[in-house]
Amino acid sequence: METPVKPGFRVIRGPDWTYKNQDGGKGYAGTVLRLHDERQPHFPKLSVLVQWDNGDKGLYRAGYDQGYDLRIIDTANAVCHPKVWCDGCDVDEIRGMRWRCTECYAFDLCTTCYMNDEHDLSHIFMRVLSSDKTSMGPKMLPRSSSPRLALKGSFAGAKVVRHPQWHKRLESDKLLGTVVRHGQTLEDKVNVRAAVEFSFGRERVDLNKISCTLPGSGGFVYAGHLANLGDLERVNEGDNVLVTATPAELEELHKRRGLWKPDMTKTFLEKGYVLKRTNTGDFTVTFHDSQETFRMNSAALRKYRSACPDK
Ligand SMILES: [Zn+2]
Ligand SMILES: [Zn+2]
Repeated sequence: METPVKPGFRVIRGPDWTYKNQDGGKGYAGTVLRLHDERQPHFPKLSVLVQWDNGDKGLYRAGYDQGYDLRIIDTANAVCHPKVWCDGCDVDEIRGMRWRCTECYAFDLCTTCYMNDEHDLSHIFMRVLSSDKTSMGPKMLPRSSSPRLALKGSFAGAKVVRHPQWHKRLESDKLLGTVVRHGQTLEDKVNVRAAVEFSFGRERVDLNKISCTLPGSGGFVYAGHLANLGDLERVNEGDNVLVTATPAELEELHKRRGLWKPDMTKTFLEKGYVLKRTNTGDFTVTFHDSQETFRMNSAALRKYRSACPDK
């Protein structure tokens, strides 16, 4: 599955983060400003420039040298799911990531509802980024066994200051404000914006044109459930993987290929290590807990990384 990368995406630090508190700290959000494309030939490939909500900027890896410094918390309006409503808040068209329950019939949540614990926490969800209605995505661990992270930044309640370079003609007392509402509207296309209360009234501002002096709360995220920015999520030799196919799916995926062993059902939600890619395109995976080794179909596996680095 390909993860799109667009300016305007909202991000937090990812699994390979090594930049201390450049982002403001764990759980602080930022906005992708620039990435490599044909019009920006000198900008390094597989890298992005991010403006953190605290005002700092940096260049980060989005696949460069196999490094993933960022996770996507919001794709803004870059992805929408026509005619798919959220069963949590009844928004009539999910925008951004779609979360589909794999245990209930046609049950979808928007990111806000999924991350803030709508629906049964023991159910396994699939993360869908593509707007194609039939598309599938990687399956997540149940939320009941996943750590949750508090999001901070230019969310409602944050005290913010406008960047003077964007607002040269404004007097300094018009630069300070408080975020009233955070989030995009249909007209905003890609950029996420905030409604900010200034001394003279309310205005909508692009998040990359303000920085927060006192962060607001953006609710929670299951950081390990978010896509790494730029990650194609293909399983390779040497990867740590998680078995996300259920016992019934494991049987179906492996029987056809003559790889089925009943003991494979024990690997559901187990973590394994990919020893080798076989010449038939399957993977030899070894499981530490059960001391077993199986040849497996990559559709049963998901690349696994630790949820929240503290670096
Ligand atoms: Zn919702
Ligand atoms: Zn369910």
